[in-house]
Amino acid sequence: MDTKLDPSRDDLPLMANTSHMLVKHYVLDLDVNFESQTIEGTIVLFFEDGNQVKKQTSSTKEICQLESNEACTFRTPEPCHIPATNARTDSSKLGYNDFAICDKGEKDTFDKDGNHDNQEQASGISSSEYCCDTRNHGREDFLLVLDCCDLSVLKVEEVDVAAVPGIEKFTRSSKLSVISEELRNEVVGELVTLPADRWREQLDYYARCGQAPGCGELFFDTDTWSLQIRKPGALTASEFPHAIRIWYKTKPEGRSVAWTSDQSGRPCVYTVGSPINNRALFPCQEPPVAMSTWQATVRAAASFVVLMSGENSAKPAQLREGCSSWHYYVTMPMPAATLTIAVGCWTEIKLEKDLVTERPFSSSEATFRCAGVCGHVEYPCRFQNASATAQEVIPHRVFAPMCLRDVCQETLLPLIPPCLSAAHSVLGTHPFSRLDILIVPANFSSLGMASPHIIFLSQSTLTGMNHLCGTRLCHEIAHAWFGLAIGARDWTEEWLSEGFATHLEDVFWTKAQQLSPHEAQEQQELRACLRWRRLQDELRNSPEEMQVLRPSKEKTGQVSDSGASVVKHGLNPEKIFMQVHYLKGYFLLRFLAKRLGSETYFSFLRKFVHTFHGQLILSQDFLQMLLESIPEEKRQDLSVENIFRDWLESSGMPKLLPDQLVLLLEHLLEQKTLKPQTLQSLQRTYRLQEQDAEVRHRWCELVVKHRHAQAHRHVERFLLEDQAMGVYLYGELMVSEDARQQQLARRCFELAKVQMDRPSADVVAQMLF
Ligand SMILES: [Zn+2]
Ligand SMILES: [Zn+2]
Repeated sequence: MDTKLDPSRDDLPLMANTSHMLVKHYVLDLDVNFESQTIEGTIVLFFEDGNQVKKQTSSTKEICQLESNEACTFRTPEPCHIPATNARTDSSKLGYNDFAICDKGEKDTFDKDGNHDNQEQASGISSSEYCCDTRNHGREDFLLVLDCCDLSVLKVEEVDVAAVPGIEKFTRSSKLSVISEELRNEVVGELVTLPADRWREQLDYYARCGQAPGCGELFFDTDTWSLQIRKPGALTASEFPHAIRIWYKTKPEGRSVAWTSDQSGRPCVYTVGSPINNRALFPCQEPPVAMSTWQATVRAAASFVVLMSGENSAKPAQLREGCSSWHYYVTMPMPAATLTIAVGCWTEIKLEKDLVTERPFSSSEATFRCAGVCGHVEYPCRFQNASATAQEVIPHRVFAPMCLRDVCQETLLPLIPPCLSAAHSVLGTHPFSRLDILIVPANFSSLGMASPHIIFLSQSTLTGMNHLCGTRLCHEIAHAWFGLAIGARDWTEEWLSEGFATHLEDVFWTKAQQLSPHEAQEQQELRACLRWRRLQDELRNSPEEMQVLRPSKEKTGQVSDSGASVVKHGLNPEKIFMQVHYLKGYFLLRFLAKRLGSETYFSFLRKFVHTFHGQLILSQDFLQMLLESIPEEKRQDLSVENIFRDWLESSGMPKLLPDQLVLLLEHLLEQKTLKPQTLQSLQRTYRLQEQDAEVRHRWCELVVKHRHAQAHRHVERFLLEDQAMGVYLYGELMVSEDARQQQLARRCFELAKVQMDRPSADVVAQMLF
């Protein structure tokens, strides 16, 4: 498929050419410097050949060459010392649809951002040789494109993995006598595909390779959104080095992290969940399909704590006077955008007396475990580990500035075990082995954010009763399953994480409070009501195209040949404040859960989690599996197409259940005034005359209350056809003190009274006369 990229003003470009090479692991080695507000160091990326390359079975070389020619290649017919700008201008003239870069004002920013230090770097590297090469072979080099923004890239080099002692076991040849590119790539190829039970060894070798010497600098260029790397003479992805090291530095204004101070006034820095994700923290492959593992060594002054997405609760290692180093790793492949880091002078907050009792594993909890192996790529998965699947409460820690200790102890700490346990009782296995919760500085722009192994919570959740803290915590905990363990293949389908987390937060929270089924239902109805009002408000005040949950429609999930794509509205500043994905997604799931019955729905959801954890999904993966689990005769008009049409691809309010309509109308009944136009559009939008008697009853009440003469015939019909429910409407017509309405009541009674049972007729007669 060939999706033309059009990174217009508010779409987020994903530039990485993941179809050619796919990153499997990152080794980060970074220093955090609060004085200069920079993070500086190296990142080593380990690749395997991408999907397009892997698909080829024979004559790989030929095909790869073709592909790399199709992809964005670097064309420099002139000698290498020409300014990089010209090279790029040339390439855009040649019309690479595949690799469209925002052209607006780029030339201006080119020199200002200081991104482009490579001119000097490149000039030192055998440039003449390269130029000759280009002329001789007449083909262009393969170009590796990484997502990168607001970073100063200092140097890019190939890593000599063959120099690591003991590495020969990852090759077919016993001795590494002739070291070639092919051999190095063979080593990386073996390393990235080691079986899951050898994960420790794999991590260890990744780390050692990460420290191996360089064996040749690579050419690079940067622009607003990407870093492009090439090796002279490497014409295809398979000839390109599969382990590369990038020396770089973040910028204080870079949009992936915020440099700020905590509630005690001490400096800190953390990833903000920016729309541009982590590409201003490290060069990476952003498209979610580039699921990778990582490890990081982060150094900071000894007074700081480094928290990060990692399976291990890292402890600081003292390096030299006043400097500590922290090491984190993950073994579950996830999109680079999920990595989170926070560095600050935080304190671990514990309960005064050690009240924390980790609940023992109980084997009976594992009853709903589904048989069968996991569907994801190999990694040491908790779903396959009996004691992990039974663990209701995972180990957790809370970090905050010292000044918030008391409020954390009172409000937050007691909530964590019941919320984690509630989540486990609903969904089963916790996908992650541990959890840190950090109370972020006051300037954090939302109430919470979930990442692997770490949740950010706003201090706003800590005051008042524990309700806000509990619901927010439950919401973020739910993201461990929906958003992290099961990710959206296309980021425009945000509802796949936010809709689910919003729906599950209520379910978890009512369980965590140990409410009775009746109380739980009441609380959930109340929240539905509030959300309905919020959604209505938002839809009234937002542009129509922003109200659609699946804006790319049938193109959802498609990428260009190179793997690049854009996330529709991904950079639209309005979007940050919109909750439509949360709310509409929530109402869809609520609707589905009601249709199936809560028990059936949640047992389906556990099966779904078991099937899809560790993978990326599109809406249809969920909907198809859900519909297949319902017997055909119960499906009625439910189909993937109908759900797309009514819920995911339309703007405006979602389709309503009768109960939700009743709630809506009752809410409207409390309004003092409603314009006739509002009433009219209400009737049209929800086709109220086709609804059940409960709904029509509320509608008639509205008509009477607001003396909406245009709909008097609806009242008339109700009084005649729904006599069992109409008695009180007579009263309402009479007390309205509107002559036309009183007349209507009398007229209907005349027609109906003959058939009316005696007591009802008497009651109505008293009202009328
Ligand atoms: Zn698994
Ligand atoms: Zn969320």
